[in-house]
Amino acid sequence: DLSEWQAALRSQFPIITGHPALRYLDSSATSQKPQAVLDAVHQYLTTSNANAGRGTYTWANRTTALIDQAETRVKTFLHDPEPEQSQVHFTSGTTEGLRTVARDWLVSCLTDGDEMIVPFADHQANAQPWLETQRLLAERGTRVVIREMPYEADSHDYDQQALAGLVNDRTRFVAATHVHHVYGADMNVHRIRATVGPEVVICLDAAQSIGHKTVDMSDLDVDFVAFSGHKAMALPGIGAVWARGRRGHRFEPGGWNGSPNTSGVVSLHAAFDWLEEAGLERIEDWTVDLGLRLTDGLSKLRSYEILGCPLSLTADSAVQRRQGIVTFRHRGIGSNDLGFILASHGLMVRADGHCQAQAGEKDSSVRVSLHLYNTPEDIDHLLQILTDLDHES
Ligand code: PMP
Repeated sequence: DLSEWQAALRSQFPIITGHPALRYLDSSATSQKPQAVLDAVHQYLTTSNANAGRGTYTWANRTTALIDQAETRVKTFLHDPEPEQSQVHFTSGTTEGLRTVARDWLVSCLTDGDEMIVPFADHQANAQPWLETQRLLAERGTRVVIREMPYEADSHDYDQQALAGLVNDRTRFVAATHVHHVYGADMNVHRIRATVGPEVVICLDAAQSIGHKTVDMSDLDVDFVAFSGHKAMALPGIGAVWARGRRGHRFEPGGWNGSPNTSGVVSLHAAFDWLEEAGLERIEDWTVDLGLRLTDGLSKLRSYEILGCPLSLTADSAVQRRQGIVTFRHRGIGSNDLGFILASHGLMVRADGHCQAQAGEKDSSVRVSLHLYNTPEDIDHLLQILTDLDHES
């Protein structure tokens, strides 16, 4: 029974159970933390805290070992098929992870006339590093072409046919996103390899899938994956970029630029243990269902426009599932105002342009994003308020 499973897990989030009048609906921005993660960090900081590296004493050695173990844990969490060859590089989050790919790898392997394909309708963190790479190389006299990743108009999925048409013998690099942070669309990234061929390097932004569904490197045939720990129940300020080893990708050693975020690493390890124990498939089922409950309710109200893939594609379709992210606008009330109204009822949502690479003020909208601690009651409460606002307009 999923609801019993959920209730037992929900009870492990002190910030949720401690605030029964509030409903947190902004997990795409950051996730809440289960007690097990808080405990792991507390345990580390009260028993072994030291800097990592060449320690001559127990705490430092323990810290170094914890970081090594966490690297291995990231690989198992990602179902890494070749853990001996691959690399894990800890970063502060997805943004720095993608920048690391650009700075430590992409810049040095592109030559004049090479081409990249960039998803400009996704998060800006997955556009800027590639634009900066192009600019940096241009300053050195190397001209690199950027092409825009094509999208299907109705589903917002990547358009594989159009993508195939963009690929040529100069295409070196494709950036993609696992789950879209505004539309909630599962972008079907497992299809990209067949479209672009074996030689093109694929870099994946897994910010919105990590901790929400299985991220499986034996299935998604990509070369780099970047993610943030704070969206997957770990502390803020820790994330990682994983690199498949088969092409010999190497990050610059000592990538921490100083002392590592050891308590962050500990929190990430604990979060991955906790999430796997909870069951990523069940987490996905739970949040997808909550999202459907919301889109079903919203679609009955005249005043709201849901952004992204239409409902017909969101049911249990093998083609595309909407993850637990639902973004909408009220036709009469501005999104910021709607955000304030919801906040006054204890509902925490995101209301703005959501850092989309190509978005302006006019594109502001309200985003509801769910995790396993959310309940059907959260959705029904939200829908009740949205229904009242529908009748008023
Ligand atoms: N990519 C996507 C798809 C995101 O949703 C986010 C966070 N909103 C980021 C990248 C950036 O993540 P961070 O701020 O943790 O680096």
